[in-house]
Amino acid sequence: MELIFATANKHKLAEAQAVLGPSFTLVTPASLGVTEEIPETAETLEENALMKAEYLWNRFHKPCFADDTGLLAEALGGRPGVYSARYAGPGADPQKNMSRLLSELKGCTNKKARFETVAALILSPGEKYLFKGTLEGEIIETPAGSGGFGYDPVFVPEGYDKTLAEITPQEKNNISHRGKAMRKLSDFLNNRAKS
Ligand code: IMP
Repeated sequence: MELIFATANKHKLAEAQAVLGPSFTLVTPASLGVTEEIPETAETLEENALMKAEYLWNRFHKPCFADDTGLLAEALGGRPGVYSARYAGPGADPQKNMSRLLSELKGCTNKKARFETVAALILSPGEKYLFKGTLEGEIIETPAGSGGFGYDPVFVPEGYDKTLAEITPQEKNNISHRGKAMRKLSDFLNNRAKS
């Protein structure tokens, strides 16, 4: 089955493909000629994921999905949350976002944080589905590791002594917010195909 995945992030693409397996072919918006950034301007992960998937549905009328992820730090009242990608303001990039997070958390003893991913799948205008995955952990002060992307170098999952950037892509997928959301999406599609 072919699915359009609303991402330009090669790491996300690889993570999603690894969970879905070879019976699903993921197609990127770029490969279909989409050059503009797909808007994600809503106030919740659910709305953002749906907004991105609907953008693709309206353009191509083919099965598609999008994911939106937030990092919620307990001591910051759940920030940056839905604003994780834009945390450092205009011109934000992963380095700047991590620096802002670390400076906001300076002096806080509570370093607990959670990743949340919502994946939105659209199969037809009347068939829109949401799948969620979370990962609990802690933010560390000194980034470590070169794998993964985004906030991975400062996030140590609960029960681990390494960051998400220090474990293998497969280990990350086994425990991660996106891995969990994508497994739910994959199970849903596989069960639907059987029935
Ligand atoms: P989005 O879902 O692409 O909008 O991501 C929101 C923000 O969270 C961006 O800054 C991403 O780099 C970051 N992010 C998304 N997924 C992950 C992840 O699996 N690990 C670390 N950072 C992530």
